[in-house]
Amino acid sequence: MSISDNLSAYKSQIGENVTLVAVSKTKPIEDLQEAYDAGQRVFGENKAQEMTSKYEALPKDIQWHMIGHLQRNKVKYIAPYVSLIHSVDSVRLLKEIDKEAKKNNRIIDCLLQIYIAKEESKFGLDEIETIDLLENILPDLKNIQLVGLMGMATNTENNKTIENEFKELYELFKYIKTNQLKTSSNFQILSMGMSGDYSLAISCGSNMIRIGSAIFGSRNYTN
Ligand SMILES: *Cc1c(COP(=O)(O)O)cnc(C)c1O
Repeated sequence: MSISDNLSAYKSQIGENVTLVAVSKTKPIEDLQEAYDAGQRVFGENKAQEMTSKYEALPKDIQWHMIGHLQRNKVKYIAPYVSLIHSVDSVRLLKEIDKEAKKNNRIIDCLLQIYIAKEESKFGLDEIETIDLLENILPDLKNIQLVGLMGMATNTENNKTIENEFKELYELFKYIKTNQLKTSSNFQILSMGMSGDYSLAISCGSNMIRIGSAIFGSRNYTN
């Protein structure tokens, strides 16, 4: 199946209420152009420099999503154009994004990445850090718009584990929506689900899935 076949298969499967982020990390410009020509406008990348060179090479109506761990000294490269940052995993990073957004005269949309997996390797905030950030830090950051949460489940064959982690994230999302951010109509996005677990994620309340290998084929190296 071609990239455009894969995309249209996904589009018809997931319906209109779920946003498909085409995760194009490590893939060449030609592959992204093929997806673009098939109508895809939302792309996810995990490295600031790679995303920036793709941004420069491709049409300007693409929405670029940063989905990978972001170092503070790289924020400046993407601040002028990034459409959504999924991977906000610390207060220091959020403050840096606010600073660079202000320099660019922008308000940058962000998701907080929540640690839900039972794995040491995944980045993210825990629930206590998240609530503290929402109550004590966010109100002062005028150039950040917090639009939702993101999470990655444990990489396992055990669907029950994955389901429990997704449900946990959905509960936190709902809790924040009805408490800390009840007056913010923009807090709407729950980014969870990848090639291997997206349908489970949608059944647990996801409205944004990040699909890489199932659209573009497997990557040569893992990251
Ligand atoms: C690579 C990546 C994806 C996509 O993974 P696939 O299994 O190829 O669909 C999704 N989310 C994040 C954060 C990633 O780094």
